[in-house]
Amino acid sequence: MSSDSQAQDRGRFDVTFWGVRGSIAAPGPTTARYGGDTLCLELRCDDQHILIDMGSGARRLGRGLMDDVPRAGHEITILLSHLHTDHVIGFPFFGPLFDSRSRLTIIGDASRPVSTRDGLARLMSEPLFPVPLEEVPASLEFIDVAPGDSVNLGPVVVRTCALNHPGGAIGFRVEHRDRVLTHISDTEHVGDEPDPTLVAMCRDADVACYDAMFVEGVNYERHCGWGHSTWQAAVRLAEAAGVRRLVAVHHAPEHDDETLDRVARDMERAYPGALVAAEGLVIDVLSGELARSGG
Ligand SMILES: [Zn+2]
Ligand SMILES: [Zn+2]
Repeated sequence: MSSDSQAQDRGRFDVTFWGVRGSIAAPGPTTARYGGDTLCLELRCDDQHILIDMGSGARRLGRGLMDDVPRAGHEITILLSHLHTDHVIGFPFFGPLFDSRSRLTIIGDASRPVSTRDGLARLMSEPLFPVPLEEVPASLEFIDVAPGDSVNLGPVVVRTCALNHPGGAIGFRVEHRDRVLTHISDTEHVGDEPDPTLVAMCRDADVACYDAMFVEGVNYERHCGWGHSTWQAAVRLAEAAGVRRLVAVHHAPEHDDETLDRVARDMERAYPGALVAAEGLVIDVLSGELARSGG
């Protein structure tokens, strides 16, 4: 059996981190190793191409995708946790949006007063952006789901839940080939006991990405109520849910590489295998192996 057909039999479920920062992009020499772009994850689940959030990291991802367009165009599902700018600012700069062959399905939160379509239309309108949403060449379909609902994407099941964040946000649990990846950002923990809804969402997750923007005892206490969590709360949740690999995301813009090295060391000590996401990190959810993307 060739290695190609072995790979086919085994299937595919991997995630590439194109942006890992929260709040605002923070490029520069002090953040070069972990990266300055805001959240954007790319999942490949066999033939399903799924993105989670469209922060500034979506620009580079989109550029790479336009270098390699399938004959029928890109067919992509975009899961949006919420519409704060750090999670959507890359959307108007996402290459496939400007290719008429692209078919993009955008899944957002139905519980908010502004729909996902209307929110993105506001972002892409004068005087904020020159090209209105309704004029982009790609075919767009918007599906807003109530937190708690599930969506089937071919063989992939995406479950959602409400998060504790100003204005609301939704978390995602992506199930494929008996493996699980969760994305819980943006959210703030309440007290020391993990939220039972989040424990259920992250139950036995192979990869659990979590908003670890702050550090308890360092800067969390000054930011209570801002809707973000800590790596310590991430560890408590991972312990309660039996997470295999915990991944910190939504790094504070002021956390430079040295600070994140310290967080990575402390978190790994508290929860072996845990890591702080860096731009270019690739995790094979099926094997658990780590790699770096050249993109
Ligand atoms: Zn955010
Ligand atoms: Zn937010």
